[in-house]
Amino acid sequence: MNETEVLKMVKAGGVFDLSPLAFEGRRMTTAEAVAIFNSFNAFWQYNGEPCAGRPHALLKSGKHSNGFIACKEFLKYPRICILFANEILKAIGDKFILSSKVSNLGIDVVTSSAYSAINPGWEVTRLLSKYNEKIEYIAVEKDDQGKPTVIRGGIDPEKKVLVINELMTTAKGSTWETKEAALKCNGDKPAPKIIVPAFVLVHRSKEMVLADGSPVVPILHFDIEDFDVPNGEECPYCKAGSEAIRPKNGNNWQRLHGLA
Ligand SMILES: [Zn+2]
Repeated sequence: MNETEVLKMVKAGGVFDLSPLAFEGRRMTTAEAVAIFNSFNAFWQYNGEPCAGRPHALLKSGKHSNGFIACKEFLKYPRICILFANEILKAIGDKFILSSKVSNLGIDVVTSSAYSAINPGWEVTRLLSKYNEKIEYIAVEKDDQGKPTVIRGGIDPEKKVLVINELMTTAKGSTWETKEAALKCNGDKPAPKIIVPAFVLVHRSKEMVLADGSPVVPILHFDIEDFDVPNGEECPYCKAGSEAIRPKNGNNWQRLHGLA
């Protein structure tokens, strides 16, 4: 299918009728991804210059933002998750030789963090198992502070570990935390080898590297800015008279989209 056909199908309510074959031989476009996100009320981006007439987003962290993407809203559906896992696989295929000859892939373990990145992590691993029959998937669990730091039982130091994430906002965020968890999971014993780059499904960061300077490969990129208002950063949207509202409270989602 081409982009026009996919957009028509999604807009007609047929998002669950899409299969990875719809995107065969090409990459999913940003417009297609946004259409899929919109089917699940999972995407919003500020339209135009800051103004009093349109509100902007107040995030749970207290930061203000001109965009909002809730990946868990669509990754919880296996039929949707597989579409995006296939897109991640295509990006991996640009960096690694994917052949049907088993065990020469050079990826032994895929890791991703709880909770939203678990589903795509598992699906990507399942797709890669075609090329390495013994590939493993290992989730990074959250600690008491809600940070993904816990890998139970560690990882064999001889193994090569691929880090993937569903969303990246900052260089020090959960993509980095996932990598750091893998590096530290064996305690005082040698760490497993971490594959560079890491792969990120939705990249809404200005940074193309993690905290250690290692590169990330974005599958879909969005120019979304956050403003750290609680720490004194000025928000240009507030300055223009726009109201900061929690995206999912009351009818705020409709208000953000200009529908209420
Ligand atoms: Zn603001």
